[in-house]
Amino acid sequence: MISRSLACRRIVAPSLRNSSRSSLSQFGGCWGYTSQAASSLLQAFEPSVHRTCRVEDEYADVDWDNLGFGLMPTDYMYQMKCTENGTFERGQVRPYGNVELSPSAGVLNYGQGLFEGLKAHRKENGSLLLFRPDQNAIRMKVGADRMCMPAPSVEQFVDAVRETALANKRWVPPPGKGSLYMRPLLMGSGPVLGLAPAPEFTFLIYASPVRNYFKEGTAPLNLYIEDEFDRASRGGTGGVKSITNYAPVLKALARAKSRGFSDVLYLDSVVKNNLEEVSSCNIFVLKGNVLSTPATNGTILSGITRKSIIEISRDLGYQVEERAVPVEELMEAEEVFCTGTAVVVAPVGSVTSKDKRIEFKTGAQTACGRLYDILVGIQTGHIKDKYGWVVEIN
Ligand SMILES: *Cc1c(COP(=O)(O)O)cnc(C)c1O
Repeated sequence: MISRSLACRRIVAPSLRNSSRSSLSQFGGCWGYTSQAASSLLQAFEPSVHRTCRVEDEYADVDWDNLGFGLMPTDYMYQMKCTENGTFERGQVRPYGNVELSPSAGVLNYGQGLFEGLKAHRKENGSLLLFRPDQNAIRMKVGADRMCMPAPSVEQFVDAVRETALANKRWVPPPGKGSLYMRPLLMGSGPVLGLAPAPEFTFLIYASPVRNYFKEGTAPLNLYIEDEFDRASRGGTGGVKSITNYAPVLKALARAKSRGFSDVLYLDSVVKNNLEEVSSCNIFVLKGNVLSTPATNGTILSGITRKSIIEISRDLGYQVEERAVPVEELMEAEEVFCTGTAVVVAPVGSVTSKDKRIEFKTGAQTACGRLYDILVGIQTGHIKDKYGWVVEIN
């Protein structure tokens, strides 16, 4: 999947060590090398080779028509450290590769970590579009506070995302073929033994080209209502993107998948009758003109896609309600769909609770389809962004 042959043997290593946007951009649109080859190239710097750069280097050697949601490492990642005084030093773009951690790192021992996820789309004119990156930055700050970590400022976060996207530009799929998914991480990287926040924190961003999150592609999802495992509880961390929320539900997810379902729909942990969300996305229920979604009261991740879909729906004339949504209401819904950066707006074809399976309207002429088209239209630059959500970078 990843080209080992280097059409363009030009190296950015020297400037990479203390990279800045200007030092990277001076190489124009066709610099870069494969991650596997990065370390050897670092040692074999040849300043003259950049003249051999070819047009094909605009794109990495990827089968763009068969992208899923698997990890495909790209050339560069971003790294920024923060010491005990709570300030992040200047970060840098560096070749993609493993990170070294103390065995007693806070993240390894006590799960002190957060993640984020956002996409860069390539426009026909060659520039890249980010969708509301400031919202990811703000969410990371909120999560960091909950997890006793310092967070990068909104400006540091957005700059880091911008640098990471541009450095990996040749991995951004052609228009209409997917996007570059970027995964910011914040973790307690310093050593601790007694339970306490780590003495050092690391902010990282890596990236991977992606297309559809579910193996179903854009086909409707079949969800399974989980009645044994809870995803989040009152007073817990369900409302932030803590890494500790995800491993505990792998079991429910694996079990649902083994039974042929696409994903799990979790219920609240108190009365076990109100919808919460799906493993990595929020849920909406439509009946008539009323679009309902569970309120974000601490156990539900406050999705940026959720927030955007609420706003778009209201502008389209739907009555949007954020409140408790009981299972009975889901059972009577006309349409159900999920929202998230990875899944975008995904139609739900059926929900199964114990032995009862309910089906919903999908396909053309659905609210879900219309909302998908508008959201993706804005994200890819095909629909005018009257909201000011899209950030164009080049
Ligand atoms: C990330 C995530 C979402 C979706 O959030 P977006 O900002 O829309 O990507 C929803 N639920 C969970 C549990 C998540 O981790």
